[in-house]
Amino acid sequence: MSYAIALFLMGITTLLNSSLSAQFLTNFASGLALIYFSACMWHTKALYARLHIAFSWQRCVTWMLLGLIGVYFFSQVHVEESLRILMVSLTTLFIYLHRPRLFLAAQTRFKIDTYLKHCTYLMLSVVLLRSAYILSVSLNEAYITQHKWLWAATQFFIMLIHLVFFSLFMASSIVESINKLKREHILDPLTGLLNRRGFRLYITSIKPPSTQQHAILMADLDYFKKINDQYGHHLGDLALQHVSRILQNSMRSQDKVSRIGGEEFVIILENLAQQEAYAIAERIRHSIAYTPILYQGQSIQLSISIGMSFFTQAQQVDAALLDADQLLFDAKKMGRNQVQYSEFRYMEGTR
Ligand code: GH3
Ligand code: MG
Ligand code: MG
Repeated sequence: MSYAIALFLMGITTLLNSSLSAQFLTNFASGLALIYFSACMWHTKALYARLHIAFSWQRCVTWMLLGLIGVYFFSQVHVEESLRILMVSLTTLFIYLHRPRLFLAAQTRFKIDTYLKHCTYLMLSVVLLRSAYILSVSLNEAYITQHKWLWAATQFFIMLIHLVFFSLFMASSIVESINKLKREHILDPLTGLLNRRGFRLYITSIKPPSTQQHAILMADLDYFKKINDQYGHHLGDLALQHVSRILQNSMRSQDKVSRIGGEEFVIILENLAQQEAYAIAERIRHSIAYTPILYQGQSIQLSISIGMSFFTQAQQVDAALLDADQLLFDAKKMGRNQVQYSEFRYMEGTR
């Protein structure tokens, strides 16, 4: 959006610059500069948003006002075209780099962002070159006739760089949309956990354990239908978010939890001893049973049943999942709010 505004304003500036007479440009230099600086500010805003840098309107507007005063002075009070253009160039530089340290240190997540950063450096270098040129022109009038090509070259480069900027911004918004779609494809919107597709994708990336085995937990909330019936679906949804948070907080950072159905979760605990896996499963069960949801002055108790199995090879996941599901069924049958698990009994390559 910011970039679209910047493009629109840049377009107006270019149109006015190319269609108006020199006299008119001098008379309305401050107005034109105002449009151009606004374009620079919106462009900088878009750029900073992509690079995750805090943008400051205050600093930008300050530089813009100072620039406008300079432009006004050299176009109305003391007419000096080269110094007026110099003011425009310097103000551009200060607007783009109004947070110089943050800009220089900005870490880029995607290649496109790195290109955007380099493109900005390139553009500012050309702007600096222009400033140096204009300064030399104002000091030595003969210079302007001798090195006219330099002015034309910088103009051409600035246009070219803006074309590159345009392509990069377009590409980055396409990449962003694709990444968003990819994320939405594998994430559950209610809890932010992996959904069934995300879970399937994740298990293909599991590597064989280095020392122990992996544990797989099938967890299902107890009497969840009753919660929905008694307190409504909204509370049911809050309960699912509440449980998801507890699950994530009870596991190690390398463990993964997915919501594969309504109130069914699969948890993979990678590379750990059976007793440690059991301890984590118990911790999960305990936390859910002893952390009630507070809703409209009521304390609502939840509980979860867990079936746990083990595997070492990615191709054993489905068998282990079936096993965990059967154990979950046993846990339900035996009264719920408990963990049932089987000893690790898969020999490598037997299932
Ligand atoms: P059990 O202890 O045997 O698991 O009993 P249960 O009531 O939890 O099991 P059942 O599978 O019969 O009910 C699951 C309920 O979960 C049914 C459905 O209304 C509810 N549910 C599924 N998805 C959602 C959801 O996204 N939001 C809400 N609020 N409820 C959901
Ligand atoms: Mg249930
Ligand atoms: Mg269920």
